Amino acid sequence: MPDNGRKADTVTLTIDGREVTVPKGTSLLHAAEGLGVEVPHYCYHPGLSAPAQCRICLVEVEGAPKLQPSCVTMAEDGQVVHTESPSAVRMRKGVLEFYLVNHPLDCPICDMSGECMLQDYVFEEGREKGRSREPKRVFGRDDFGGDVLFYGDRCVMCTRCVRFMDEVARDPRLTVVERGSRAVIDTFFEHGLEGASYAGNIVDICPVGALVSKDFLHKARAWDLDHTESICPGCSQGCNIELHTRDNLVQRLKPRENQEVNGHWMCDYGRANYEWMNHPGRLEEPEVGRGNDRRPADWQEALASLFQRLSDAGGAGVRIVGSPLASNEALAGLAALGGEVGSIEACVFRSPRAPDEDPLPGFPTLVRRRDLAPNVDGAGILGFERVGGDDAAGGLREVAGHDGIILVLGDELRDQSEDFGAAASLFVYLGTADSPAARNADFVLPVTTFAEEEGSFVNVLGRVQRFRQGLQAPGYARPAWLVLGALVGALRGDGTPASAADAFERMAEAHAAFAGLTWEAIGTSGTRLEAAHA
Ligand code: SF4
Ligand code: SF4
Repeated sequence: MPDNGRKADTVTLTIDGREVTVPKGTSLLHAAEGLGVEVPHYCYHPGLSAPAQCRICLVEVEGAPKLQPSCVTMAEDGQVVHTESPSAVRMRKGVLEFYLVNHPLDCPICDMSGECMLQDYVFEEGREKGRSREPKRVFGRDDFGGDVLFYGDRCVMCTRCVRFMDEVARDPRLTVVERGSRAVIDTFFEHGLEGASYAGNIVDICPVGALVSKDFLHKARAWDLDHTESICPGCSQGCNIELHTRDNLVQRLKPRENQEVNGHWMCDYGRANYEWMNHPGRLEEPEVGRGNDRRPADWQEALASLFQRLSDAGGAGVRIVGSPLASNEALAGLAALGGEVGSIEACVFRSPRAPDEDPLPGFPTLVRRRDLAPNVDGAGILGFERVGGDDAAGGLREVAGHDGIILVLGDELRDQSEDFGAAASLFVYLGTADSPAARNADFVLPVTTFAEEEGSFVNVLGRVQRFRQGLQAPGYARPAWLVLGALVGALRGDGTPASAADAFERMAEAHAAFAGLTWEAIGTSGTRLEAAHA
C-alpha cells in the first residue's frame, strides 16, 4: 500500500469535485454528508440496518457499470463520485415519480407536512406535474394501537418502522403484507402496538406522514413549533430531547441524538409525560405571612423580609427538603442557604419509583429507570439523602414537627398533613403549586419548572447535562437558583448569580464532584463527571 503520509485507516475520495478524507468503512452517503451534500434517502437511518431498497440514494461512481446506492457503498481511495450528474438526477426524478403514483395529495392536512422527506425531495427535484392517469390505490387509516395511527396511502414502504420494532425494540410487531403495489405495513396481532414501550420512535423515523401520533394529531403545524434542547424529566436516564412548543405550551417531546445516553430514541412513558409542564394551577407571585395572615408581596419586599428573618435566625437547626425535579444549581443553592443560616440537621429528597426498569434491547444503554425523576443522582451528589417509599410518600416525619428552620424546594408537601411545619420558627416554601401543608409557611415563593429555566441535571450514568428554557414562566415565578442565589449572595456579601452558568460555577467551587467543569464544556450533549476528573 503506498505510504503518502495518510493514516491507513482513512480513505480519500472526490465527491462532486471536492476531495474528502473519511474513516474506512464510511458510506458514500455519510462521506457526502460531511461535505454538506445531502443525498436523498428513505430506507436508510443511522440507527438501523441498511437494506438499500428505496433506490433514491443512487449516485454515480466513475468506473462502476451502473448507479450505486450510496447508503451501502463504502468510500474507497481515489473514488470519484457524482451526486448531481445527469444520470443520478434523472434516476432520482424517476424514482420520485413512482413514489407519487399512489401518494395522496394530503400535504395540507398531513401532520408531517413541513418535515416530510417526500415533500422536501419532490420540492427540490421532482417533476412539476405528475403523468399518472390511473386511479390511486386506497388503503385508508388504521389504528396500530398505543399512540400510533397508520395512513397506508402515504407510506413509501421504506420499512424503517418494521426494522425498528425488529432490530431495536426486539419486539417484532410490524411486517409487510401483500406484494407489489398492494404491499402495506400491518401488525401481526390484533392488539398491534398496544403495551409496547418504545413504539413512539417509529413515528419519529417514518420519513413521511404514514405513521403519526394520536396525541399530536392536528395539534400544530411543524413550522409553527419552536424547538428547545432539553432533558427528559421522566426518569434518571436523562434522555436528550427537544421540547416542541407553541403558544407557550409544550406540544410534544422528541428525542435528540446522544449516543452516550439514548442514541436516537426515547421511551413512550417519557414521551407522554409533558402535560404537567403546561399545568395552569401555578403559584404566580410571592406571598408572606402564615395561614389567614398570608398576603401577596413583590419580590423585593419578600426577599428583603426573608433576608431579615434569616439573619435574625442565626444558629438555628435547619431541616431541608429538596426535589429530584430541581436543577443542580437550585439544589446547591438550597443547601448553601441552609449552611449559611444554621446547622443542617436533615437534608432530604423523595423520588417516585417504577416497579421495574425497562431497557431498549437493541440499544442497551437506554433503560427507562426505576427512579422517575431526572436529578436523583445530582441530589445525592449535593448531599441530599433519599427518604420515603417507592411512591415518594412518607419520609418527612423528621422535618414535619421541627421547631427550627424548614426550607422546602419543590412540590414535595402534597401528601403532608396540615400540621406540617406548624412548629417551625421559620418555614420557607419554594414551589410551583400550593399545598395545604404549605399554608404554614412564612414565605411562599413561586419558582419555575425545568421547562421555564436553564440548568443542569446529573443522570444515572454520572453525566451532567444541561437543559434550556422553552417556556415563559407564569406570573412572577423565578428560577429557584436565582431566588436562592440572591439570598445566599446577600448573606455572604458576594452578590446574586447573574445566570444559570454563574450559579453552576459557584456550585462547582463548592462541590468537588463538579470541580473544574464549565458551563461551556458541558455543551449540548453533556459530559461525565468522572471524565472531568480523569
Ligand atoms: S409506515 Fe413509514 S416508516 Fe413504515 S414503511 Fe411506511 S413510510 Fe416507512
Ligand atoms: S428512558 Fe427515562 S429519560 Fe428516557 S425518555 Fe424514558 S422516561 Fe425519559
